[in-house]
Amino acid sequence: MAAGLRLLGRSFQQLSNLSNVSASRLPVCASLRCQHSQPSSHEEKSRLETGQAKTLMDIGTRRIFTSDHDIFRESARRFFQQEVVPYHSEWEKAGEVSRELWEKAGQQGLLGTSIPEEHGGIGGDILSSAVVWEEQMYVNCTGPGFSLHSDIVMPYISRYGSKSQIEKYIPQMAAGKWIGAIAMTEPGAGSDLQGVRTNAKKDGSDWILNGSKVFITNGWLSDVVIVVAVTNREARTPAHGISLFLVDNGTKGFIKGKKLEKIGLKAQDTAELFFEDVRLPADALLGQENRGFYYLMAELPQERLLIADMALASCEFMFEETRNYVKQRKAFGKTIAHLQTVQHKLAEMKTQICVGRTFVDNCLQLHSERCLDSSTASMAKYWASELQNTVATQGVQLHGGWGYMWEYPIAKAYVDSRVQPIYGGTNEIMKELIARDIVKDK
Ligand SMILES: Cc1cc2nc3c(=O)[nH]c(=O)nc-3n(C[C@H](O)[C@H](O)[C@H](O)COP(=O)(O)OP(=O)(O)OC[C@H]3O[C@@H](n4cnc5c(N)ncnc54)[C@H](O)[C@@H]3O)c2cc1C
Repeated sequence: MAAGLRLLGRSFQQLSNLSNVSASRLPVCASLRCQHSQPSSHEEKSRLETGQAKTLMDIGTRRIFTSDHDIFRESARRFFQQEVVPYHSEWEKAGEVSRELWEKAGQQGLLGTSIPEEHGGIGGDILSSAVVWEEQMYVNCTGPGFSLHSDIVMPYISRYGSKSQIEKYIPQMAAGKWIGAIAMTEPGAGSDLQGVRTNAKKDGSDWILNGSKVFITNGWLSDVVIVVAVTNREARTPAHGISLFLVDNGTKGFIKGKKLEKIGLKAQDTAELFFEDVRLPADALLGQENRGFYYLMAELPQERLLIADMALASCEFMFEETRNYVKQRKAFGKTIAHLQTVQHKLAEMKTQICVGRTFVDNCLQLHSERCLDSSTASMAKYWASELQNTVATQGVQLHGGWGYMWEYPIAKAYVDSRVQPIYGGTNEIMKELIARDIVKDK
């Protein structure tokens, strides 16, 4: 049993029975089916889908989940309500969350949830990870960069890292003692990763890293950063000359710039990072030399799915906020929920959210069976993040002037929504990827 991971009096071992997502590097559908994460047919029939439940955030719904996930969800929900909600306004002013929060999350088994136990992770399935990021959206607190740390950064180390890298980083990251970040974007290279200028040159067996990165989530608090760098300028194409490096905080020449002031995600530390003649040992290379671009392409569908599911969870949250608001706000002698225009708007919102939920749950299921392809993940990311912005705009509108006030949750959800079509690959790039798959000769 993983130490200290008791959820509602049950050991996490019971939860880890959900998982058999192996650390295999390639999606191999049939052979890696997550048998244990399949609900029994009896359980499946008795679970409601979100649209049928009392609220869109009810525990015990959606047929992709099981009762074990529900138990985990209860625990995650309690954690976010008790340990995050009361402090989030403070963290918004500070532009970062506390390190103590990270360690508390680690103690609760909320970090590295779907990283294999033998690597020092929690050993749950990807649906357990989804529970964590959904619950964070349900409290409308975007500060903690848990999902990037657990479900974007840790998988690279777990999948492509050497034994010593896994042993060095994963247990510390699962405990919340080390915070992870990934640095791809540069001031002059965002959508086009092949334009990366940060480079690493060999010096004996060491590497010398130079360059700068921007917009790095968890960048300010990070203890380890996966840095994307050019290692072969003469490669056939830029994609063939990119490698990934693990750079520890405190390494000489690794400088953290300022925390960036954003219009939303106020409590999340987004930073610039600089690398000035940073000497890295040979074992700072993650995976094979010049294979970095392929690793990025293999991992990006999970990042996009994560953004899509967070978008849907945010829609569910915003819908419930709006429903509650219109049921108590009075105008012309009765609540505005009595107005047919308001009712129809809510009907439209709920329908769109439930349609979106069905697709995103389908993608989650596919991904738990290692069958999610890049094009489908891009569809989910693009569509769900657009929906999130539509629902945010409608939610603010139905709140009237109060929806524009920072103290109202819908206002925060509105500004936090805006980045979703931008990061993780912009939605224009998502359409490129979807379109490429449509027109290619099969
Ligand atoms: C809050 C936040 C957190 C972030 N976190 C991270 C992080 O942790 N790590 C990291 O590496 N990066 C991170 N990013 C960066 C993010 O991934 C990039 O901002 C994003 O990929 C877009 O790159 P860009 O900003 O350079 O825009 P550009 O690439 O300059 O794009 C500008 C516009 O041109 C469009 N465009 C560009 N190319 C094409 C094309 N071929 N076809 C059609 N349209 C195109 C874009 O869609 C966009 O509308 C973060 C960004 C933000 C805002």
